[in-house]
Amino acid sequence: MNVLMIYAHPESHSLNGALNKFAVSHLENAGHHVQVSDLYAMNWKSQLDANDTLAPLAGDHFHPSMDSKQAFEQGLQSADIAAEQEKLRWADAVIFQFPLWWFSMPAIMKGWFDRVYAYGFAYGVGEHSDTHWGDRYGEGSLSGKRAMLLVTTGGWESHYSPRGINGPIDDILFPIQHGMLFYPGFEVLPPLVIYHTSKTDDKKYASYCQQLAHRLDTLWQAEPLPFRQQNAGDYVIPALTLREDIAPGEGGFGVHMKS
Ligand SMILES: Cc1cc2nc3c(=O)[nH]c(=O)nc-3n(C[C@H](O)[C@H](O)[C@H](O)COP(=O)(O)OP(=O)(O)OC[C@H]3O[C@@H](n4cnc5c(N)ncnc54)[C@H](O)[C@@H]3O)c2cc1C
Repeated sequence: MNVLMIYAHPESHSLNGALNKFAVSHLENAGHHVQVSDLYAMNWKSQLDANDTLAPLAGDHFHPSMDSKQAFEQGLQSADIAAEQEKLRWADAVIFQFPLWWFSMPAIMKGWFDRVYAYGFAYGVGEHSDTHWGDRYGEGSLSGKRAMLLVTTGGWESHYSPRGINGPIDDILFPIQHGMLFYPGFEVLPPLVIYHTSKTDDKKYASYCQQLAHRLDTLWQAEPLPFRQQNAGDYVIPALTLREDIAPGEGGFGVHMKS
């Protein structure tokens, strides 16, 4: 299988750097083909701007969505964007690896999503009707592929537990896993989160590698997170609210998961 790692850490001699090398060699030893987009090493440009399109502007000034659409349709995107899209087409599974920085991904990786997820590629896909509101949230150009987050944190596991001060990790990762991965069609596997990294010693590191190896060995068997598909009948279209008879009276991120 083809595995793409989108990896964001500025220092190769870091815990993330070591885990990245471990993941690549483990996957290759198992016979998989691996590509790594090492965003810092690539000096990835994180800001979306008018230089991302080689086409004439769609209007009289730069419009991030419309110019992304035009460049994508005309094959006139900047080469770094097109190359990352090609890697996504190639991949059967994509692992996004990053340290949690301010409760999210490092800015360089956010910029990868902003730029690579072009209009027509990751959003603005599919028809809109009374029963189908675009190919998204479970359908889309990346459907049939699997994605997984590999995240390290400074905070302890208890800090991210259901009553922990930081908020539950499932909630913190929801905008990424649901909004950025499930949206364009990925099947999203449960994340591997490595907590309290400052206390890493050789024994702990060996246990992280063991957990990671298990997750890599089961990439194609693991059950994805049970997010509800947008166009499968659970949502009222076009309001896109969950039907009132499903989880009645409840709100929050959890209602978008089948129980
Ligand atoms: C800007 C910023 C924002 C942050 N925001 C948050 C936040 O919102 N929430 C949160 O929880 N945390 C936060 N942190 C902490 C951050 O998540 C952790 O520092 C990060 O996850 C640690 O990963 P690392 O790869 O940088 O680890 P490193 O600092 O490289 O290593 C961590 C430990 O592992 C050891 N180690 C490294 N490699 C090995 C190896 N091969 N074998 C054995 N031991 C090894 C190191 O000696 C060190 O003790 C933030 C940090 C920054 C800089």
